[in-house]
Amino acid sequence: MTQSTTQPSTQPTTAPTPSQTTPDISGSAMLELGDIHSYYDHIHALKGITLKAYEGEIVALIGGNGAGKTTTLRTISGMMKPRTGTLTYLGEDIAGKPAHKTMQMGMSHVPEGRRIFPQLSVRENLEVGAYTITDRKLIEERVQEGFAYFPRLKERENQLGGTMSGGEQQMLAIARALMVNPRLLLLDEPSMGLSPLFVEAIFDIIVKLNKDHNTTVLLVEQNANMALAIAHRAYVLQTGEMKLSGKASDIAKDESVRKAYLGDE
Ligand code: ATP
Repeated sequence: MTQSTTQPSTQPTTAPTPSQTTPDISGSAMLELGDIHSYYDHIHALKGITLKAYEGEIVALIGGNGAGKTTTLRTISGMMKPRTGTLTYLGEDIAGKPAHKTMQMGMSHVPEGRRIFPQLSVRENLEVGAYTITDRKLIEERVQEGFAYFPRLKERENQLGGTMSGGEQQMLAIARALMVNPRLLLLDEPSMGLSPLFVEAIFDIIVKLNKDHNTTVLLVEQNANMALAIAHRAYVLQTGEMKLSGKASDIAKDESVRKAYLGDE
């Protein structure tokens, strides 16, 4: 685990250090999806998804294009409502609860494509992320904590978000999601479009967050190699159905997964 993670090293990209934490997965799950079906009008995107995340886990959700990964995160955070199935978070039924409510319950969703505010400065973007917090001192503490995780953002505190590089914008999107000190972080393709060194930096941060704050992370990734390297457990989605689940290290060894998602012939 590197400590200074925002200045990508000049060394060749290596797999990130796996998380060293060992979450307790014997009790009740923090997040539980049971036989979830979600639709876009008549398009049946999720066809009976079952998934659990326990407190302190990094859970990877991998799969090809159109498998339903983004839809799964959108359904969990309340951006869309499942048609049938059960969805519980911290023991509460949250199926169809709007996103601002799940956020108040400690869930933060970093959607695909970053979605930062391009006309606002780095600091302003962070402050917007804390819109549910009224205590100025606490907001400032969280801003400083974000800068400690991402020194690159501190250097660019007054720069407009839209003028930052892709990797910097991804850091900003994650730092903004951390402003509410989430218990559950939903990350949608954080490595998309980034250079290998930035990818490594982002994955190191995810591991550090999980270790430092016991933050539970549900990580959607097409970069299956990297995701499986840092996750405790993983799920494999295929055309809206859950094909496989288990320890990330076992999933990484699975022959069908290696062929389909890890670049093996
Ligand atoms: P990718 O890795 O390509 O982003 P994904 O695994 O995240 O894919 P989703 O974006 O969840 O997949 O899409 C699941 C299915 O739902 C796909 O068949 C997709 O075409 C469909 N879909 C997604 N968004 C919409 C939408 N807004 N309207 C209609 N269909 C949609």
